[in-house]
Amino acid sequence: ATPTSIMVGTGRAAELGVLFRKGDALEQLQGVRLVAFDKTGTLTKGQPELTDFVTAPGFDRAEVLRFVAAVEQASEHPIAAAIVAAADGDLPIAEKFGAIAGYGVAATVAGRRVMIGADRLMQRRKIDITPFGSEAARLAATGKTPFYAAIDGELAAMIAVSDPVKSDSAAAIAALHAAGLQTAMITGDNARTAQAIAAQLGIDHVVAEVLPKGKVEALESLRAQHGAVAFVGDGINDAPALAAADLGLAIGTGTDVAIESADLVLMSGDLKGVLAALHLSRRVMGNIR
Ligand code: ADP
Ligand code: MG
Repeated sequence: ATPTSIMVGTGRAAELGVLFRKGDALEQLQGVRLVAFDKTGTLTKGQPELTDFVTAPGFDRAEVLRFVAAVEQASEHPIAAAIVAAADGDLPIAEKFGAIAGYGVAATVAGRRVMIGADRLMQRRKIDITPFGSEAARLAATGKTPFYAAIDGELAAMIAVSDPVKSDSAAAIAALHAAGLQTAMITGDNARTAQAIAAQLGIDHVVAEVLPKGKVEALESLRAQHGAVAFVGDGINDAPALAAADLGLAIGTGTDVAIESADLVLMSGDLKGVLAALHLSRRVMGNIR
């Protein structure tokens, strides 16, 4: 590729809201066989809303919600904002807050230990969640994310949030397929939820229940099976995968760390930019050869 043709190409891309951060991104892009997406905030809006809050026998819903919201006030996970928004009034103070990435959070509220998180967190702490098993599975099958709250080691509630897909996600996936590429979703969310959302969008491959530090490994295994991979993400957790991918595309509305790790930035967060960039690279590189 000549420097001039690349300059013309990247200038055109800027008009499409695609910002090239690395010089060889156009060349890398044309070799990509599979585009893997982060789920939350990339394919979905990333602003979940509380949809279900089912308490276990003997627990008061309003009280459990206040305790849970008190803990989530200290968390930066998108789920936390959904819970805090749903709880009204002054919340009690949470002390000794701790977060386990990919699992959940815990803190002490009014002398009681409150733990909130995914099924794997509860399993790790030997808390039996089977009483909510079928209800949680039903919610997950509709694309909601179920998780649990325990108070003093006792299962207190099953909670679900819904994070709708962006309006252009399905079209972006379909366009990539039409261009001959495969698609994948990599997420820390539970497998049933991820499957449901992938099915809604027509995504080919799903890697779910991935720990934050496992995203790179997930990407490498997709690469081993399918060839050169692009990864599209927005979060702090996505930075290593953005750097490890053959081509990393960050969402412009995402975190600075993600943007700094990427080869290419989709400025508006519009996923159609992925295809625009691909067409551009094929055209520019095609002209050169
Ligand atoms: P993702 O960004 O794909 O949701 P994470 O690794 O951040 O993946 O989280 C994985 C799972 O851990 C979430 O789906 C949720 O069940 C649980 N979790 C993490 N943080 C919290 C939190 N603050 N409150 C409740 N659950 C949480
Ligand atoms: Mg994300």
